Amino acid sequence: MNYKTLLRLPCAGVQRLMNHRFSWIIGAATLPFLGVMTAVAVAPGATETAPIAVQEVSQPLTLPAIKAQAADSTRYWREEPVQRGDTLSRLLNRLGVGSADANRFIHTAPVSRDVLKLHAGATLSVEINDQGELFGLRFLNDDENGEKVLVVIEKQGDNWLASAEPPTTDTIQAVRSVEIRTSLAGALAQAGVPVETRVQLGEIFADQLDVSSLKRGDRVKLVYETLLYKGSPIATGNLLAAEIETGNKHWQAFYFAHDSESGSYYDADGKPLRKGFSKQPVSNARISSGFGMRFHPILHSLRMHQGIDYAASSGTPIVAPSDGIIDSMTTQSGYGNVVILKHSAKLSTLYAHMSRFEPKLQRGSKVKAGDVIGYVGSTGRSTGAHLHMEVRVDGQPVDPSITALPVPGLSATQHLAFSKQSVKLAANLKLLRDIPVSVAQLE
Ligand SMILES: [Zn+2]
Repeated sequence: MNYKTLLRLPCAGVQRLMNHRFSWIIGAATLPFLGVMTAVAVAPGATETAPIAVQEVSQPLTLPAIKAQAADSTRYWREEPVQRGDTLSRLLNRLGVGSADANRFIHTAPVSRDVLKLHAGATLSVEINDQGELFGLRFLNDDENGEKVLVVIEKQGDNWLASAEPPTTDTIQAVRSVEIRTSLAGALAQAGVPVETRVQLGEIFADQLDVSSLKRGDRVKLVYETLLYKGSPIATGNLLAAEIETGNKHWQAFYFAHDSESGSYYDADGKPLRKGFSKQPVSNARISSGFGMRFHPILHSLRMHQGIDYAASSGTPIVAPSDGIIDSMTTQSGYGNVVILKHSAKLSTLYAHMSRFEPKLQRGSKVKAGDVIGYVGSTGRSTGAHLHMEVRVDGQPVDPSITALPVPGLSATQHLAFSKQSVKLAANLKLLRDIPVSVAQLE
């Protein structure tokens, strides 16, 4: 997965933002957060349990170039929590900054009504002056497709402008270390590890052990990417490294990206951790879009891509990568012609946008690895012929390239790159060795 390249797209928005006359103020306001990312190790819910060690990790970050412009000293940004039942007008009234023309504009703004609906718990930033005059407001919201957008309403000269675009994010490495008291799931949830990372952890080590069998006293350490918007996490990226200690046994996993769209997990020596399925669903096809956060070409938003896309021409046969049972064969508006295969009680795979199904199959049919289940197409919400494949573990989408697909060995060059990278990640894991429970952020 490589959402970093994709995140370049929203940067155009930043450029625009940076050109605005008030933009340097935003830059200055966020400077302390961007300059030094300080994280304090705090275990959520730690008050009911034994005292915990606290470690503070500070790391300087590269600062974005800020275009200095003439200051308008009377203006400043103020943040206001959205309360239940708040509308934009009501909230502005409460702040005493409602202006008739701003209110009029909000009611006719050329953005969807949905993105202007406020949700309790969100934070609204307003740019005002000492006289209570309003110059702009912005807040993060979900659009009608459930994607995060940054809503900006601002005054330029005498005119009001509105936009709703994917937010610009920073990527940091979050580090978690937990010692199990009752269950791994509970310990990880208490440490704030996102559910997708928890499921992925189980998948990475599935050929070594069943992580749900870990007991009191066992320890797990994780390094994973978190996308931040103004210092608040809004999405999770790759799980980069993981370590499990149980009794005197010890396992490590390190992520290695094969290209910009996919990667797999290897042990410290560079050996693949999983065997994976024996077959690819389409042979000799390139992964054109990986799993994770990416910019959606049709919806123009930053969204979670819940599967991977294979570039393949219409009519290319799609085969079952492993034995299974046809769980469903349906036609849906988004997925088009879609087949779901069930491989075990917890593992299923999904194949979307098919031009047609394999005619002799139906719901309940048994298929063997290599059997044709349908043909590549562009049905449903699709930009062109391709196969969209998903893997779900207990209903949770996971990265197919680390869970199900054949895991390639590393070439000599790749092995060298892997070693360099894993040494750094191993150091990050080691950093947490003596901390019983911690939450920290690096980079
Ligand atoms: Zn897709």
